[in-house]
Amino acid sequence: MDFKEHIAIVEDWPKEGIKFKDITPLMDNGKAFKAAVDEIVEYAKSRDIDLVVGPEARGFIVGCPVSYALEIGFAPVRKEGKLPRETIKMDYGLEYGKDVLTIHKDAIKPGQRVLIIDDLLATGGTIDATIKLVEELGGVVAGCAFLIELTYLNGREKLEGHDVLTLMQY
Ligand code: IMP
Repeated sequence: MDFKEHIAIVEDWPKEGIKFKDITPLMDNGKAFKAAVDEIVEYAKSRDIDLVVGPEARGFIVGCPVSYALEIGFAPVRKEGKLPRETIKMDYGLEYGKDVLTIHKDAIKPGQRVLIIDDLLATGGTIDATIKLVEELGGVVAGCAFLIELTYLNGREKLEGHDVLTLMQY
């Protein structure tokens, strides 16, 4: 399936010079969305995953149906102040800004094989911080999966040593 048919490219959003890749048309097309999720599910099966971890907010949209299909858990990574119990945190840089990501301290059991899922890999800052959170809790990052990779931002370099699946490249 040509998933790119279902991605809207929005010029100069949220800032001038950024060509934002909008996944909502893909989400709006049940067959295309299911096919994309199914590809990640097949990848997850090949990596022997115990738990899915996804950063807010679009990591939830792509990650939760994968965890549901595999009958394994999903642990959310969120901006500071959003998770109600004890967390650990990590600073990170974005394609457009800086922030802090957090995860519940008890979200991962040491040795669990984790698949990190987000909608899009840009500079890799978000996923790099997520990997550090998972590893700090003793999880093993067994793979990283994204709908979209912006190859010109070289995010893959930050993920060196990790197995990476992307369904579309720009
Ligand atoms: P990175 O940290 O630079 O790799 O940026 C990736 C994060 O920013 C992901 O969580 C994405 O949801 C978000 N992001 C950056 N650019 C885009 C875009 O063009 N479309 C959708 N999300 C984006």
